[in-house]
Amino acid sequence: MKVVVCMKQVPDTNEVRINQETGTLIRDGVPSIMNPDDKNALEESLRMKDEWGAEVIALSMGPPQASEILREALSMGVDQAILLSDRKFGGSDTWATGSILAAAVEKIGDVDVVFCGRQAIDGDTAQVGPEMAEFLNIPQITYVKELSREGEALRVRRFSEYGDFVYQVTPPVLLTAIKDLNVPRYPSVRGILKHYDPEVQEIITWGFDDLGVDESRVGLGGSLTNVYRSFVPVKSKQIGRAHV
Ligand SMILES: Cc1cc2nc3c(=O)[nH]c(=O)nc-3n(C[C@H](O)[C@H](O)[C@H](O)COP(=O)(O)OP(=O)(O)OC[C@H]3O[C@@H](n4cnc5c(N)ncnc54)[C@H](O)[C@@H]3O)c2cc1C
Repeated sequence: MKVVVCMKQVPDTNEVRINQETGTLIRDGVPSIMNPDDKNALEESLRMKDEWGAEVIALSMGPPQASEILREALSMGVDQAILLSDRKFGGSDTWATGSILAAAVEKIGDVDVVFCGRQAIDGDTAQVGPEMAEFLNIPQITYVKELSREGEALRVRRFSEYGDFVYQVTPPVLLTAIKDLNVPRYPSVRGILKHYDPEVQEIITWGFDDLGVDESRVGLGGSLTNVYRSFVPVKSKQIGRAHV
């Protein structure tokens, strides 16, 4: 079984601050981390490796510094880490991001499970996983909170606000993880010593030319949407009786 786990590097804060002038994220002084839901997707993928012998590949799209979370994934136990990095990918919206990540999954080949987090804490759209499933033309089960195996099939419990649903699905499938799925492990000391060595270049980097994806589907130019304006709504206190 081959599992690809998608992970995004995000600012380490739940309070994303926006530059009011430019409408962009303020990243200065904010350390970056692996997106929390992606850590749950990673933990479950590693459990599939421990219990079912799965091969696990970590995949991230971002600038070169996104390799930090891939080193973390390697030190937690993934078999391979791939960074998608190219100036042409910059400014991608969720559709273009999904298109690029899906092209990488196709290039990896014979993937049984694509595991994403439900949502990234900076962009917050929860669109990339479902979009990837559409590009790959495979079924998707989102908000996964429990996973087990039944022969060749997977038994998946999905959270919904109306109650849980249990599905049986035969791979290939795309799943998105929520935090109830598991408690992520820590990187091992041996893993840290091995995979944080700057002399060792073990992260595979693919750029635009490696993926063979259509230029009209990547980057700012290939995006169907762009953020027109980002702002924090000004809250005002209403004194007196509420208006109805
Ligand atoms: C404040 C803000 C607002 C934005 N609003 C929009 C918007 O309204 N519309 C729009 O199209 N774009 C928007 N973007 C752009 C958006 O950041 C990118 O498209 C981004 O690559 C993915 O969107 P997301 O962060 O919402 O991810 P989500 O869809 O919430 O992420 C779900 C999962 O997909 C996987 N994933 C997402 N990105 C990556 C990656 N780069 N590498 C590997 N795996 C990944 C992870 O597993 C993640 O848990 C916004 C960005 C910011 C910072």
